[in-house]
Amino acid sequence: MPTLNYAAPTSLDDAVKLLAGASGLAKVLSGGTDLLVQLRSGRLKPDLIVDTKKLPGISGIKKNADGSFVVGAATPGAVIEANADLKAAWPGVVEAMDLIGSTQIQGRASLAGNLCNASPAADSVPALYAAGATAVIVGPNGRREVPVEQVPAAPGRTNLAKGEFILEFRLPARPARSGDAYLRFIPRTEMDIAVVGCGISVTLDANGVCTAARVSLGAVAPTVLLVEPAAKTLIGHKLDDATLKALDAAAQAACKPIDDKRGTIEYRTKVAGVLARRVAAIAFDRAMGVAHGATH
Ligand SMILES: Cc1cc2nc3c(=O)[nH]c(=O)nc-3n(C[C@H](O)[C@H](O)[C@H](O)COP(=O)(O)OP(=O)(O)OC[C@H]3O[C@@H](n4cnc5c(N)ncnc54)[C@H](O)[C@@H]3O)c2cc1C
Repeated sequence: MPTLNYAAPTSLDDAVKLLAGASGLAKVLSGGTDLLVQLRSGRLKPDLIVDTKKLPGISGIKKNADGSFVVGAATPGAVIEANADLKAAWPGVVEAMDLIGSTQIQGRASLAGNLCNASPAADSVPALYAAGATAVIVGPNGRREVPVEQVPAAPGRTNLAKGEFILEFRLPARPARSGDAYLRFIPRTEMDIAVVGCGISVTLDANGVCTAARVSLGAVAPTVLLVEPAAKTLIGHKLDDATLKALDAAAQAACKPIDDKRGTIEYRTKVAGVLARRVAAIAFDRAMGVAHGATH
């Protein structure tokens, strides 16, 4: 039986060396809420596990002087949810992360694990796409920063090269009158996988006209989608009935879902349009300073 090696390096260099030098399958460990399930079920048989949690900068949240944020890749959901500054600036990102699992899962689960597990239904990912977040990646060739939407490649696969891992996420400073939101649809009230998820971030002018928007859909394609045609239906418009109708149609047009026990293609497509309308309404309200508690 092959041996499973475990290492918990304390320097980024050591982590990269271990991952890049591994002869068999090497996996990065953050909270382990996906990885350990895959190990236990026998679906994944790595030769090496590199635990990132002792690495400097991998956990914690920093607000920069310009209002942007750095969120360590392995920061647990519970820490993200408890950060009042982050919640005020990016309520959609925080509520999406907060939807993941239960109290126990929240103590471990991270944004990096959610993104790199590369499930099309991952809850925090549409909110990160909508936020225009970037991922700082460390590897054998040094550091690079990429938009988060460049990380997932296919279900269960990322574009990270051998030896690379995510160190942190960056969320930009928000212009005045900006708001974001995330909603998912699940058949029960919690602890389920999204049938569809939707994240939207907008900036408005003083008259409530949208000047910038990003729209993202989860669980309707092999990877989470950034839906630029849907964002275009918002930009230059107030959120009136015509805009909502155009957004709904653009969201539906982007869907290429699977048919499974959670929903048919037709159902998922329809729900994507409905969710986009609802999420846009919350994001616009938040941009105009109308409070919305957690959306779940
Ligand atoms: C009971 C239960 C309920 C759940 N509910 C939800 C839910 O509602 N919504 C949802 O979206 N998910 C849910 N999940 C899945 C899981 O909790 C999330 O995907 C979580 O965010 C994974 O984070 P983690 O830190 O535990 O990742 P890990 O398990 O540590 O890692 C997951 C994957 O990402 C890779 N990885 C981790 N960190 C890095 C890094 N820094 N750089 C590169 N690769 C990395 C790992 O190698 C692995 O392939 C649930 C899981 C359980 C067990």
